[in-house]
Amino acid sequence: MRQEIKPAESWYEATVTREEYPALRASIDADVCVVGGGFAGLVTALECQKRGLQTVLLEGGRVACGASGRNGGFVSSGFALGVDGVMAKVGKQAAQALYQLSRDGTEYVRTVITAHEPSLIHGSGMRVALRHRDTGGLKSYADMMRADFGETLRYSTAEETRLHLVSPRYFESVVSENAFHIHPLAYGLLLARLATDAGVAIHENSRATSCRKEGSSFVVTAGGGQVRAKHVVHCVSSLSPDLHRPSGQAMLPVATYVAVTNALQQDVIRTGAAIADTRRAGDYYRLVKDGRLLWGGRITTRVSEPQRLAALMLGDMLSVYPGLGTPRIDYAWAGLMGYAIHKMPLIGRDAEGQWYATAFGGHGVNTTAMGGVLVARGIAREDDAWRRFTPFAPRWAFGQLGRLGVQGSYWWMQAQDRWEEAKSA
Ligand SMILES: Cc1cc2nc3c(=O)[nH]c(=O)nc-3n(C[C@H](O)[C@H](O)[C@H](O)COP(=O)(O)OP(=O)(O)OC[C@H]3O[C@@H](n4cnc5c(N)ncnc54)[C@H](O)[C@@H]3O)c2cc1C
Repeated sequence: MRQEIKPAESWYEATVTREEYPALRASIDADVCVVGGGFAGLVTALECQKRGLQTVLLEGGRVACGASGRNGGFVSSGFALGVDGVMAKVGKQAAQALYQLSRDGTEYVRTVITAHEPSLIHGSGMRVALRHRDTGGLKSYADMMRADFGETLRYSTAEETRLHLVSPRYFESVVSENAFHIHPLAYGLLLARLATDAGVAIHENSRATSCRKEGSSFVVTAGGGQVRAKHVVHCVSSLSPDLHRPSGQAMLPVATYVAVTNALQQDVIRTGAAIADTRRAGDYYRLVKDGRLLWGGRITTRVSEPQRLAALMLGDMLSVYPGLGTPRIDYAWAGLMGYAIHKMPLIGRDAEGQWYATAFGGHGVNTTAMGGVLVARGIAREDDAWRRFTPFAPRWAFGQLGRLGVQGSYWWMQAQDRWEEAKSA
């Protein structure tokens, strides 16, 4: 089924009003120059300015035009690398400290939105469901998260799960009450407003093309001007790998996709919570305003949008919920995430003194807030909690070869997922 979709416009873009920020046209001085106006850059800039540091933010396109304004809108604690992976690398105690930082990120988002624009929260709770029969793993995971990480995950049997998600595809699930879901682009625009109100100078359409050290300062060239600053923070995700090579070359771009339907009359998704499944490249979705279904899924390392994206996404929805009726896809779009090889954020300072807060992968709404605050505290010399990420330092991601490797491993993991599902069917 081929459907026309509105080109390059997301449902998020269609439901906000943007302010314009002027392009950089002069040479200016600042204490801090933040490069990249996604969540990571915006929180970093806001938090630096709040600490009395005169801050300039350079954004190559429009504020939050990257992953930050295109994502699923799920806000939950943790990292793209699950807690098991974090524990395997740094041990339980350090993993607990890192998890607490990620939880601080979740609370940061909640606090900012609740204080300024509570209507950006679309719903609360997140249900994570299995697509194959449980052999006890999910329940013991929930018990471990409660005992070791203080996270309450409510376990549901397959029968209970299917009362909320009426689909034969689902089995057991857990609900995280602390999670919630938001309008991510509106949150990004709110951060930009708060930052400018605090005194940050934001410049859109000001793509940074180089950053060099001159004496004890850094000079960032962008568009028709340049910024000379004592500190520079790179927050460009995987989009400008050559600007700051230590972090840029340590990341791989990974694409994922979102579609939004028309307003639905349906009785198969009976929850206002966000929903995800536990597959390696699983579906994530939620009901948004007016009964529209926002559906995310699929992962590739190609950066161009696949043809027939709307039809592919529609097929995914109907394969889970044949009872959805005849939804129409009104919007469909792609977004690019940045992943380090170890799947943890890259947060730190290089040998020359340049800061970076990037590589938040598919778990970036909470962790960008965490990363921005950590870097601002580091620059303001409040503390060096950012060093908790030293075990996850940037490592070269093997360029094009790395991309092929990621694509191959996703195909392999998808095959494993299908095999597990087939055994439970
Ligand atoms: C479709 C999709 C769904 C997702 N769903 C979720 C979810 O539900 N929950 C969750 O927690 N995470 C999710 N994520 C991940 C999350 O969106 C990202 O981890 C997070 O937004 C990354 O923020 P960022 O600021 O690092 O990067 P970005 O938002 O990509 O921002 C980088 C910015 O840098 C700018 N830039 C690039 N180069 C330059 C340059 N040279 N000069 C100036 N500016 C430059 C870009 O224009 C861009 O605005 C999803 C991601 C995608 C793509």
